[in-house]
Amino acid sequence: TYERDLSQTKEFLTQNDHFLIVSHVQPDGDAVSSTLAVGWLLSCLGKKFVMVNEGPIPKRMHYLWHADEILDLSVTSLDRKFDHVICVDCADFKRVGKTNEWFAEGARLLNIDHHPTNDLYGLVNLVVPNAAATAEILFDLINYMDLPLDQTIATVLYTGLLTDTGGFRYSNTSPKVMAAASKLLEYGVDGPALSELLLEQMTLPQLRLLTRALNGLQLTEDGKISWVSVTDEDLQATGAVHEDMEGIVNYPRNIQGVEVGLLFKVINEQAIKVSMRSAGKVDVAKVAQSFGGGGHVRAAGARIEGTLDTVVPRVLEQVRLQL
Ligand code: 5GP
Ligand code: MN
Ligand code: MN
Repeated sequence: TYERDLSQTKEFLTQNDHFLIVSHVQPDGDAVSSTLAVGWLLSCLGKKFVMVNEGPIPKRMHYLWHADEILDLSVTSLDRKFDHVICVDCADFKRVGKTNEWFAEGARLLNIDHHPTNDLYGLVNLVVPNAAATAEILFDLINYMDLPLDQTIATVLYTGLLTDTGGFRYSNTSPKVMAAASKLLEYGVDGPALSELLLEQMTLPQLRLLTRALNGLQLTEDGKISWVSVTDEDLQATGAVHEDMEGIVNYPRNIQGVEVGLLFKVINEQAIKVSMRSAGKVDVAKVAQSFGGGGHVRAAGARIEGTLDTVVPRVLEQVRLQL
C-alpha cells in the first residue's frame, strides 16, 4: 500500500546518511524538481547528500532552490562512491545514465517514481503510477513526514507539477494535483511567473529550431501519425541546444486527426531518441517498451540504435500495430 511504501521510504531516509540523489538523463522540470525536493527533505533531517545528473540541468530551472548544486557528472570528477542512492523520476535503472558510476557495489536504492512502466528496481520502491509527477509523490512524502512547507520548497514542487501536466492541462491533471497546487500557491508560489518562464518563453534559437523542424513535418497517408526529426545539423544551424527540443513533439501530435505524434532526435551516428505523444487511443508506453524504453500512455520515449532511415520505419510500424 501507499502508506506502507511511505513508511519504508521514511525509514530509508531517517536510518541512513550520505545519500546520492540522481534523476534521469536530459532532466525535465519534474526530474530537477524531484531531485531538489529530496535534497530539501534530507537537509531538514540534517542528512548529508550529493545531487548529480549525467549532464547539465536546463538553464531556465536555475532559479530553483540550490539548483546550481546539482552536479553535472560529465564535468565532475568522482572522489567517492555512495552506498545509499535515491533515484527520482526514473522508470528503470538505465534512465540514471552514467551516474551509476557513482553507485557503490551493492548500493541500496530508493526508487521514487510515477511511471506505469517502472520495473521496481529499488530496494525500496515508492512508485505511484497514477501520480501526475514525481513531485506529487514528494509533496505527499513531505506531508507524511510532517516537514513544514515554505515558499522555497513549494516553488520546487510546483515546478514539477506544472511541467509534467503541461500547465495543468494533460489528462494526468487529477483533482489531487489541483489540490496540491492550490496548497503550494498558498505558500506564495508565483504560478503565473513560473508558467511564463517554463512553458511560454522561448529563446530565439529555440524558435528557429522549431521552425526548421516543422518544415520537415511528415504525415502518414491516413493522417493518423505525424512526425518531425532533429539532427545535429539543425542544432548547429539554429544555435539551439539539446533542451530546446522539449515541446517540439506536441506540434505533430496537435494536428487534428493525428493519433500519434513523434519526434526523432539524432543523438549520434548510431542512436536515435524518439519522443512519442498520443491523443489517447494508442498506448505509446507500449510502443516505447517494445524498443526498450517506457513512459506513460500518452507520453513515452525510447533510445533506439540506428539511423533515421532505419529507425523511423520501425517505429511507424510499431505505432500502426497499436492503431
Ligand atoms: P520525453 O519524450 O519528453 O523525453 O519523455 C516522455 C515520457 O517518456 C517521460 O515520462 C519520460 O520519462 C519517458 N521516457 C522518455 N524516454 C524514455 C526512455 O528512454 N526510457 C524510459 N523508460 N522512459 C522514457
Ligand atoms: Mn521526467
Ligand atoms: Mn515525471
